[in-house]
Amino acid sequence: MVKTHALVVIAAALGGCVDTSLSGPFQAEVLVRTPDRQYVLQTVALPDLTGFDPMSDPVVRFSDHPNFDESELEEYDASSFAAPSDYSPRVRDVGGVAVARDLESLLTLSAYYSFKDNFARAQDAFGALPQLIPDGGFQILVEPKFSSELGSQELGTNAAYISGGQAFLLVQMSSLERIPLGMNPSVLAHEFGHHVFHITYEAADGLCDPDDNAPGPTPPGRFSSADAIRGFNEGFADITAFALQQETRVLADSIPALDNGERTLDMREPGYLAFSWSTRDRCGDSFYCIGTLWARAVFEVYIGSGARPDDVTARSAYTRTIATAVAGIPGRLRQRGGWVTPTKACDFASLDDELFLVHAYVDAFIAGLPVTLNPSACRELAARFEYTPAGCP
Ligand SMILES: [Zn+2]
Repeated sequence: MVKTHALVVIAAALGGCVDTSLSGPFQAEVLVRTPDRQYVLQTVALPDLTGFDPMSDPVVRFSDHPNFDESELEEYDASSFAAPSDYSPRVRDVGGVAVARDLESLLTLSAYYSFKDNFARAQDAFGALPQLIPDGGFQILVEPKFSSELGSQELGTNAAYISGGQAFLLVQMSSLERIPLGMNPSVLAHEFGHHVFHITYEAADGLCDPDDNAPGPTPPGRFSSADAIRGFNEGFADITAFALQQETRVLADSIPALDNGERTLDMREPGYLAFSWSTRDRCGDSFYCIGTLWARAVFEVYIGSGARPDDVTARSAYTRTIATAVAGIPGRLRQRGGWVTPTKACDFASLDDELFLVHAYVDAFIAGLPVTLNPSACRELAARFEYTPAGCP
């Protein structure tokens, strides 16, 4: 009897996707992070949501388990992932509140709420950056599959931004995650930071075109896939998580097992793993570590200015300064001599001297900061990258 009852309950839970009784303005139960870093289920308003079936919003669209052929993905842009919403979370109506019937629906609803919150915070932190919210909106891919000649695979343990695609991925959670990455506001802020890097640095830089086999001319666009630039992109994303969420340990809530302090920005925090350019092997996360050195320097410059981490107005003003300096880097790199000439457009392998690119980027970043920040930026970046940047005493 007990077994039969359990089956009936499961059958009831699986039947029906969206209670048609739900109507706008919508409310849903989602997982939110409280100021003391607890994750709790809370009923929130979703004022921009226009419906659950499918889930739709003027600037955010959801793709239901899309399947991509990797061989067709070598070249992509925003249009590659753009599609009308076709994802419907499985929710039931509990007193007018949409309550998820399964984990995937809870993850998607929570991610949606957190993305919207981060978008609103980004308007303050970054100001009126063109395409901060792109004209075409964002696509959110719910548990996408990527197939290649080797077979099909579902990604695990990640949330991601597809640069140039104006799309975010929410992947199935894994047992490594204490809090699913897609429900962690800091991780989503980090992913949004990649979008800001895309509309600042990459937009000014120009991404390399794999079909362009012409040799030369000079960077920087050709090196967007080089470890150095990928690293600085990660560092910028971590600084964005600080800007939007006052986060200094972006993975700590979600994957404590993997958080060994190598990406901790604040040296005052327990477990902080210190390293510099020459000792970056201590930091295991390859190109991420280059970005962490940059992000730690940027964080210390902020603290050194006397501003408090919890002062959102000061954080926002500082973030705008940093984003402006980063947006100006490609133009300054172009003027810099000494580049090797790539044999074709995306031939970043021909860049033998990664250190040259790292120094060029750091020099160009410092050159874009206001003079008031110059002495501390010089000091913090010189200490971590172990050289004297151009224009520094
Ligand atoms: Zn990232």
